[in-house]
Amino acid sequence: MKKKIIAVLVFTLFCNFISQAQKPVSDFNPCGTVSPSDEWNRWFSEKVQEFKRTQSDKRSPLVNYKIPIIIHILHDGDPIGANENISLAQAHSQIPLLNADFSGTNCDISQVPEEFLSALAHDTGIQFCLASHDTNGNLLPELGIERINWKKKANWIDPSSFGNKDQLKAHFDNTIKKASIWDPDRYLNVWLAIIDGSGIGGYATFPENSLNFSDVENEFTSGVVINQRMWGNIGTVPTGYSPLQPSNDYGRVATHEIGHYLGLLHTFEGGCFGILNCDDFGDRCCDTPLTSYDDWKCPSGTKNTCLLSAGNDMTMNYMSYTDDYCKYMFTNDQVARIQTAMANGTIGKT
Ligand SMILES: [Zn+2]
Repeated sequence: MKKKIIAVLVFTLFCNFISQAQKPVSDFNPCGTVSPSDEWNRWFSEKVQEFKRTQSDKRSPLVNYKIPIIIHILHDGDPIGANENISLAQAHSQIPLLNADFSGTNCDISQVPEEFLSALAHDTGIQFCLASHDTNGNLLPELGIERINWKKKANWIDPSSFGNKDQLKAHFDNTIKKASIWDPDRYLNVWLAIIDGSGIGGYATFPENSLNFSDVENEFTSGVVINQRMWGNIGTVPTGYSPLQPSNDYGRVATHEIGHYLGLLHTFEGGCFGILNCDDFGDRCCDTPLTSYDDWKCPSGTKNTCLLSAGNDMTMNYMSYTDDYCKYMFTNDQVARIQTAMANGTIGKT
């Protein structure tokens, strides 16, 4: 009898262990970016309307921009290519992914459902390149890369030690970024680190342009922070689909975060409210249907989470939270916001 009880106990513990191991990461959030204040949103929406008016009489409303990226790789002394001190190949592998997504040349764009073809943007006008020189004009030993051993920096705390996103963001914004940012008028700053403990894939700042709003980028904070195992599609990036873990091997955490950096809000911002004033509510894009779907899992089939919305949710938009393999489009109104951000002073005009 005693043996039987022990066997049952061992079996129960084993089952618990298995279920723990396979537990979905319910506290994971692909993005820690928070929408700026209503004041910023109103100001930016006005700029977007101005931009649309001035562009409507031109044959091509798109201006082409090329944005140089500097990737700050934070590590704890590992040799290049080991652990979070990711290889040059992995660091570089993100750039063609970004360029495909922002130019509408990503292969999976052909999956956009017919109901969204009129909203689909075929190009944003944005392309990215790797910075070739540092702020003093010196050629970089590795194109687009600065490797930083955080252990050798005074007052820097191990990025992997933060147990929530607010602590992580505070340390990056107040300490790490201030000490390592490259001129944000000339570079898009990207910081890569192990940030799994914070529960987010990354976060971004919104464009400041010429006004001093307190909750958007400034000269010390501008840019994006991304989990190093969600940057690119090789090296430390786990590949393949898993129903229990977010799948981020198409580089679209970066597409999403840089979308914020260029003025885009989440498609589910505001949830199901704002059907009569889509320019001034929610994500401020009238061609992204109302939605409250903010899950990182790809939906099975179509979703319609808002009764008042006539069509389905655009879960395949880059500014939703879904897994990489089921998001593959920007819309025309989103492009108007991106172009507005650039026209108002964000870097990189060619
Ligand atoms: Zn986001």
